[in-house]
Amino acid sequence: MSDKTPVGEVRPSQLLWTYGPGALIDLPNLSVVTLGIDRWEKERCTPIKEARLLSAVRRVLGAQVDSLRMPPFRVSENMGKRTAEDYIGVPVRPFPRWLRCVKCGLLSEYDIGLFKLKESYHRPESTRFVHKDCKGSRGDQPARDADAVPARFLVACRNGHLDDFPWHYFVHRGTSDCKGTLRFFESGASLQTENLWIKCDGCGAARNMAHAFGRLGQENLPACRGRHAHLDTYDEKCEEDARAVLLGATNSWFPVTLSALAIPLADDPVTQLLTDDWESFEDLESVDEVKPTVRLLQKKGLLPGIERYTADEIWNAIEKKRSG
Ligand SMILES: [Zn+2]
Ligand SMILES: [Zn+2]
Ligand SMILES: [Zn+2]
Repeated sequence: MSDKTPVGEVRPSQLLWTYGPGALIDLPNLSVVTLGIDRWEKERCTPIKEARLLSAVRRVLGAQVDSLRMPPFRVSENMGKRTAEDYIGVPVRPFPRWLRCVKCGLLSEYDIGLFKLKESYHRPESTRFVHKDCKGSRGDQPARDADAVPARFLVACRNGHLDDFPWHYFVHRGTSDCKGTLRFFESGASLQTENLWIKCDGCGAARNMAHAFGRLGQENLPACRGRHAHLDTYDEKCEEDARAVLLGATNSWFPVTLSALAIPLADDPVTQLLTDDWESFEDLESVDEVKPTVRLLQKKGLLPGIERYTADEIWNAIEKKRSG
């Protein structure tokens, strides 16, 4: 996929509640995963100045959190022909990586050359993949581009790992050297898993998709690889079973939320800071203990801003606060 192809639009609130990093977004023609915030364009994400919320987030996630930021917005309101530069957004990537040609059933990764991306800058939601020069399932039809859609099977585990369905392994009943082209086909009228099949053109192996679910699935699927699809990382070891899931069948992503209402409680900022983390200061017995306390907070990344005040200023504020 080219560096920047708009594929759809989501609202900022949807990014918070539904489509955060690691979530799958099931678009009309594509399925994508929201990439981790290390891939977002930081300079386009306006910082949010909320010291208390930042402290609270650090308490949960750790001191490495250096700022809170807004999601990036599209800046160009150019109503003419849009180009990639007119789009500012959140990075996503096709996931699952496997696509299926609706005409011939070809099943393959989107990025190994058999499928072509058809971009639509005017209507991002129309962006889709096609199977180049598809000749139909028997290979006897005139070559013509045919639409490709996401292969709607994935594997997931209880530890939150998400991976492509192991198509090669599954149809060959284990690891195999066969490099045959895989195809997906249907038998029967309805799209129940019992009527869905995968076949290898190379060796003729075929398998019914029902074998990927339930007890059979536990026997027929490989161990979880510990994949974090949105981060390009693999956890070293995962003991949970990898289970087959259907795209859109489960809500596999849940946000962790912290809220803050920004209401100033004190008139002067140093008293406000003390109020925000009174636990750290209430037991101090002398002005000499102020500096070490501040240093400790800084080390933990807590109470940003307190370092701007002298020990005397902080001590005075402590005494004032104690006397009510
Ligand atoms: Zn095709
Ligand atoms: Zn084969
Ligand atoms: Zn796992």
